[in-house]
Formats: sequence, structure tokens, C-alpha cells
Amino acid sequence: MPLDGQPRPAVGEALTLHVDWARRYKLMRMHTACHILSVVCQFPITGAAVGEDESRVDFDMAETIDKDEITARMMEIVTANHPVYVQWITDADLVANPGIVKSKNVRPPSGMGRVSLVCMGENASVDSQPCGGTHVSETQEVGTIHIVKIEKKGKENRRFRIRFDTQK
Ligand SMILES: [Zn+2]
Repeated sequence: MPLDGQPRPAVGEALTLHVDWARRYKLMRMHTACHILSVVCQFPITGAAVGEDESRVDFDMAETIDKDEITARMMEIVTANHPVYVQWITDADLVANPGIVKSKNVRPPSGMGRVSLVCMGENASVDSQPCGGTHVSETQEVGTIHIVKIEKKGKENRRFRIRFDTQK
């Protein structure tokens, strides 16, 4: 989007895109951390927001879980340094394997004929799920993270907040 007072570029005009790499990289690390949380905490996801300083993921769950235990299990995956990569599958593959979708309310985009599956671990041994976001290429790049708190948002909803340790 152009800034206020700036002209809209004309159709076909060549533009140079600048990515704020420091910010982008933090978001990639945080977003990958959310994937790791979904591996450790295997409940349907009802919402999520990725931020530079803090991210949150909501789960459809009634259980009470110890946040330090979740942090420890997430850090096991981070330090194991699993590869993170994209594999393309067809829409038909996705229909045949509905269980790979962890999000309860959001369906991955279909109709393009293929869906990007984000895999973690050799042969997706840790996880695989449809996602079009940006991720780091090895789990160790996420760095040291922790669950700040787990909030009870209703009887069957728990909100997990993730932060980088350097920002404690
Ligand atoms: Zn993702």
C-alpha cells in the first residue's frame, strides 16, 4: 500500500520491494515456534496471531497444562535442530488426508490444484501441516523461547503466549 499522500503506482510500473529483514526474520522464527507448539500441544487450533515480540495460539482444550513443561518440550524440538521444508501436495491428497489440518476453523486454500505442506523433521517425522507462511529452515534458528502464560479463555479454550527469552 502506498503511504498517505503518495501516488498509486501505475499498472505495469516496475517497483522495488524492500523487506524489513530484521522484522521478517523474527516473524519467521515466531511463526515456526507456533508450529512447534502445535506439535507439543495436539489440540485443534481455534486462533493464532504472530508478533515480533509475542505470539499467541488458541486451542480448543479443557485441560490445564503446566507452561514450563510445554516450554521444555518445545525446546527439545528446537535444540534437536530438525529441518523445516515445504512439500507440495495435490488438493486430492489433502481431501484424502483431512487429519493433517490442525486448524479447526480455517481451511487451507484449495482450488489451485496444489497445497504447500510445511514439514518438520526428516520425512516429516515431527510434523506436517498445510501452511503458506514463512518459516526458518531448521528448528534451532527459532532460538530460545518460552511460554509466558496459558490463559483460560472460556471452558474449552486455552490461550498460549510465546516469547523469545532475550525479551524477558
Ligand atoms: Zn506455517
